Amino acid sequence: MEPCAKPEPVREFIPYGRQSVDADDLAAVAAVLQSDWLTTGPLVEKFEYEFSKWTGAVHSVAVSSGTAALHAAVFAAGIGPGDEVIVPAITFAATANSVEYQGGKAVFADVDPDTLLIDPEDAERRITPRTKAIITVDFAGQPCDYSAFFSLARKRGLTFIADACHSLGAEYKGKKTGTLADLTAFSFHPVKHITTGEGGMISTGSSELAARMRRFRNHGISTDHRQRAGRKMWEYEMTELGYNYRITDFQCALGISQLKKLNSWLVRRNEIARFYHASFSGSPIMPLELLPEIRHAYHLYVLRLGPDIGKADRREVFLRLHEMGIGANVHYIPLHYHPYYRDKYGLKRGDYPAAEAAYERILSIPIFPGMSDEDCGSVVDAVFRATDLARSGRRPCWKK
Ligand SMILES: *Cc1c(COP(=O)(O)O)cnc(C)c1O
Repeated sequence: MEPCAKPEPVREFIPYGRQSVDADDLAAVAAVLQSDWLTTGPLVEKFEYEFSKWTGAVHSVAVSSGTAALHAAVFAAGIGPGDEVIVPAITFAATANSVEYQGGKAVFADVDPDTLLIDPEDAERRITPRTKAIITVDFAGQPCDYSAFFSLARKRGLTFIADACHSLGAEYKGKKTGTLADLTAFSFHPVKHITTGEGGMISTGSSELAARMRRFRNHGISTDHRQRAGRKMWEYEMTELGYNYRITDFQCALGISQLKKLNSWLVRRNEIARFYHASFSGSPIMPLELLPEIRHAYHLYVLRLGPDIGKADRREVFLRLHEMGIGANVHYIPLHYHPYYRDKYGLKRGDYPAAEAAYERILSIPIFPGMSDEDCGSVVDAVFRATDLARSGRRPCWKK
């Protein structure tokens, strides 16, 4: 019997993304843990200030997660029952869920097959008299066509919300994300560009919307604990229904410390991407296409496997990569495939052809600033080996 095709494992498992935390980060967090304010203290404002300074945003409001940031943005946009919000068909579920939290309806628009960015023309076709806002996603870290969405939003009287959870530090025509839409949401989950464990931020040019989101993250109450302590008063008013979406001071200390390294991390992410691009060029493995006039933030590096790699073979490639110690992943399952959205809105296969076709072939390979050049080489070798093995049809070792 022919021996099974046993891939050589790499030395250590390489996940698709991971955080970098150094001694300065640890010291910053430890100092806050020994201070008077663990939460709702001075570092929340300081993090917001430093974040705005970094992106050029006018106001930034820190919250407990990227999902809370999106929810706050949808709340600030005034979305309620009966309102429709356009969302790309292929993104993390939280983008659409934020609309549903407010009783609104997430209406999916198809994406461009080569970039997986929401298609402005399909988005426009989905606008109805009930549409109140549009949420774009800077897929993998590449900014969407902000000019097109900004003019579409102004023309049709919609709020433009950018889900920039993939694109902190990315630039569109020389301007950073956070300054390009009415409201922009960021995430500080450990796989994102900077981390606070869990955490998020919303940037906006409107002081009115910023104030609304500050109340929203604190139960809808108009003052916070520290403000009342400072004014020697106990009275407060709850004016709207909010949540506890506060972020702690020690998380903000970590965020401030991480922000100092963000630029060098973006440079490294772009270096790794250039290496991958060069390595796969001329092969049947195709990276996503790049647009002109952008700086990519490379939260993800997404490959499209060649047309010869079918549905079943993509799973083989995925499993073989894991066996070789490479944490490949798939971003994302189209939202209308999830039972919640499929059943609630009666959606079916065929409704979003570009998102569906892309989903069959995409694979995210590791990209994060802590990867060594050797790690990057191991990833490329493993991808070629795994795709060759999948094509050859040789029996993998884990199959009896
Ligand atoms: C990570 C992410 C979120 C949610 O962020 P959390 O901090 O995990 O809540 C939302 N949208 C997109 C596109 C994301 O990648």
